[in-house]
Formats: sequence, C-alpha cells, structure tokens
Amino acid sequence: MSTFQNLSLANEVLENLNSLGYTALTPIQKATIPLILEGKDIIAQAKTGSGKTVAFALPLILKLDKDKHFPQALIITPTRELCEQVAREIQKLARYKADIKVVTLYGGTSLTKQVDSLEKGADILVGTPGRVLDHFSRETIYLKEIKTLILDEADRMLEMGFANDILKLVSNIPKERQSLLFSATYPKNINKLTSVILRNPIEVKLKDNETKLNIEEFVYRTEDKPKALLTVLQHFQPSLAILFCNTKDKTEELSNWLYEKGFNVATLNGNLEQYERQEMLLQFANGSLPLLVATDLASRGLDIDGVDLVINYDIPMKKEIYTHRIGRTGRANKRGLAITLCKKHELPKLLELKPNLKVDSIDTLKPNKEFYMQGEVATLCIDGGKKRKIRAGDILGTLCKDIGIDGKDIGKIDIYTTHSYVAVDKSVIKKAFNGLKNGKIKGKRLRVWWL
Ligand code: ADP
Ligand code: MG
Repeated sequence: MSTFQNLSLANEVLENLNSLGYTALTPIQKATIPLILEGKDIIAQAKTGSGKTVAFALPLILKLDKDKHFPQALIITPTRELCEQVAREIQKLARYKADIKVVTLYGGTSLTKQVDSLEKGADILVGTPGRVLDHFSRETIYLKEIKTLILDEADRMLEMGFANDILKLVSNIPKERQSLLFSATYPKNINKLTSVILRNPIEVKLKDNETKLNIEEFVYRTEDKPKALLTVLQHFQPSLAILFCNTKDKTEELSNWLYEKGFNVATLNGNLEQYERQEMLLQFANGSLPLLVATDLASRGLDIDGVDLVINYDIPMKKEIYTHRIGRTGRANKRGLAITLCKKHELPKLLELKPNLKVDSIDTLKPNKEFYMQGEVATLCIDGGKKRKIRAGDILGTLCKDIGIDGKDIGKIDIYTTHSYVAVDKSVIKKAFNGLKNGKIKGKRLRVWWL
C-alpha cells in the first residue's frame, strides 16, 4: 500500500493529512503527485470520487512560494459550487501553513467583495471561466505570477462553450508554467484545448481494475415516472438521494410534487439566486432536506458525504453525463446505488449510451408506503461568520452551555465568510432558535433565521 509517508513529506504536512483521515494514497494520487512535484504537465483521468482534488491540490500547496505577493495558481472549474468545494479542500490541506489565501471568483456574487479579497492578497485563485475573465478584463487580478494552471472537469467546460474564455485567459498567463487537467471523462475534441494549453503532457489514465466503481446500476421500465419514483424511493429508502432532471422547469415541478407528497426536498438549478443555491446544497448535505432535485449543475465534481442513491428521472443525453451523475454516489470506496427511470421509447437511446445496464420492471419492487424522506434536523442561519471570527466551537458552546441543548442533537456546523449554519434536531429546534435569538455567540448578539 502506498501512503503519504512514502512521499517524504514534512511532519506537519503528514500530521495534517492524518487529521483529515488521509493516510493511504488513492491510485490517481499515487500516479500523479510525484509527477506534479517534478513539474510535469499532466492530463489525468480517473473515476468519479477517486480523490483527484487532493492529487492536484497537495502538490500545489507544497510548491507555494511564501515570498510572492501575487496569485501563483489559477484553478478553473465549471460551476460555482465546485469552486467553493475545491477552495474548502485546499484550505483544509493548507491548514498547517500560516496564512495561505484562497480566493473564489464566480458569478452571482458581488464583484466588489471579490476585488476586496484580491486586494488583501491572494495566493490561489479558484474560479469559473466567465468571472475570472471578467476580473481580468477589469484589471482587478494580476496573473503574471501564475505558475500553475489547473482545469478541473476540463471536458465539461468545453461542452459548456468556455473554450474561448479559457484560451483567452491562458494567453495572458506566463508561458513558463505547469498545466494540469483532471476529469473522469475526456471527449475526443479535448485536443483543441490540450494542444494549446499543455506542453508535452503526460497522460495518466488508470487501468480498468483501478477504475471499477462501487456503484450498482439499475434501470426500471415505467410509463408513469412520478409513480415509479415514489416506488423507488419507498423501496430503497435512501438516507440522502439526488434526483436528476434535464431541465430547470422539471426540477421545480418535481420538487413541488414531492413536497406535496410529504418529502423534505431541496432544489438546485441555475434559476436560483446564488445564496439560494448555496443554502439548498447546504441543507441537503446536512440532512435537513435529504432529497435533492437538480439539473446537471450538480452532476460534476460535487462531493457530498452519505449520498446513497442517485436517480436519473430523465435519461441523460450523453454517456459522460450519465457517468458524472451517478458518480455523486459510491465515492471514496463507499457503496452506492444508481437508478434510471426509463419509458419504453427511451430505452433504445439509454442502451446506446450504456449497453450493459440491467433493465427490470418497476413491479418487482416492494415499496413501503409509509416511508417519506424527511430530515431529522432543520437548519438555523446565523448572521455572522469567519469575518466576525465565529468558529464552530463558539456556536456549539452557546447551544450546549447557555441554551442547554444536548450535543447529540446538534448536527453539521458550516461557517462561511459572513454567515454560519447549524443543523439542529427538529425536537429541540424551537428551543435552539429562541435561545440563539435572545442569547450571544462569542459575546455578540447575532440575528438568526430558521430556514
Ligand atoms: P474526484 O475529484 O476524483 O471525484 P474528490 O477529490 O472529490 O474525488 O474526492 C472524493 C472523496 O475522497 C472526498 O471526500 C475526499 O475527502 C476523499 N479522499 C481523497 N483522498 C483521499 C485519501 N487519500 N484517503 C481517503 N479519502 C480520500
Ligand atoms: Mg473532482
């Protein structure tokens, strides 16, 4: 077994990796980290959930030069949610180093606030192509000291039509740089991007035995998808499930229908305001809304612990989309289940994308009609975050010591720049809400909302 210890890293780095639960290297990490440390350009392909983020982020952090005053690395991802996730992972990996500044640059949030953060000094930029280019055009980012360029989910950005934006950015960062591409899938036309961006790249593609997924896949034939959906949910009784639709309207329609049936549902699509997108995803991840109905906005890169079922309510139009959707479950060697609901006339198309899928009749399932997906917890939002030096421990302290909530009734605590969120068991949520509203966190009186 290969461990991080084999990489001869400093003790503090190893200790931090250990504290994050990372001891053994995943196959893609083993194959790429040494090459990245040598400075090679790389096109890496490895299955969903196989630890690609750490593979590119750890070497990046190890190579940062503390004496530089401008951004040294630029990471581009296709969605805002993935930017946030990658930035958070980098922050965790860099905890052992004092003062590494990671700045996220994506749309739907204030440009001015991003400029403020940039002016305070950024080491690593994580952004979506459009917003990064926007900053570049306004001359609010300095890219002349970029030494590393990383495209996460590069093929998706091509597919979304971002190739020209990316090429424009690339022509404005130093030629003397390292470039890295990571994804689980690469279409043939990716050469359009790679030949311009990378220099003598090494292609790292893992062998089949290292790419086997722990995801069981089924197709259920049905002419009545809403009814079949209920049957699937009530038969498999997942704890956290993502339901994919092909359009924004469909996600909304289906969410409303499920809500009326008694499910606690989150919806994620591009029609929502950015804060709504963030709060939806957060309430899904912390278990308040355990069923997420989403467009393909959620199909790339998102790593949410505990997702045990993915459902294709609409059949995906491309094989890559299928791969990435189902890859939201069965991550990091956990097991997962992926189900596609398919009408008779859709079956040929689906089997063309994925020829070996097992097809069954929905009547083989035995639903428990009493089962509804409802969160045991609900979420409170607190008007204070990192900027006001609020930490998870402070919120926990107020809830437990001042308000008298039992620690076991407190779930995930998420701290953002200006807000924090805490999941609390529904049996004591009123007490927690009133207590926080009338009490203080870290000596400060803060406003509280019940989401
Ligand atoms: P990918 O980008 O390949 O889809 P991620 O980078 O999102 O996958 O990682 C998937 C999960 O695996 C994450 O929850 C991450 O914390 C975990 N992980 C990454 N590297 C390791 C490791 N070496 N050991 C254990 N877990 C890991
Ligand atoms: Mg990833």
